[in-house]
Amino acid sequence: MSINYTVGQTITTRKPHACGSSSWTVLRVGADYKLQCNNCKRVVMLDSQQFHKAVKNDEQR
Ligand SMILES: [Zn+2]
Repeated sequence: MSINYTVGQTITTRKPHACGSSSWTVLRVGADYKLQCNNCKRVVMLDSQQFHKAVKNDEQR
């Protein structure tokens, strides 16, 4: 039951970013995940465990 994420996909995190937005664009998938905040454009790198914890589990929103 692993969900596949693709580059360019918009995802929502459980916790909002420091800027208040919880909407991110996936920049890289694989062993590490890169996400760009859709509000402040900051990029963060997470390993897959951190990523799957951070992302909301529902497929759509
Ligand atoms: Zn942000």
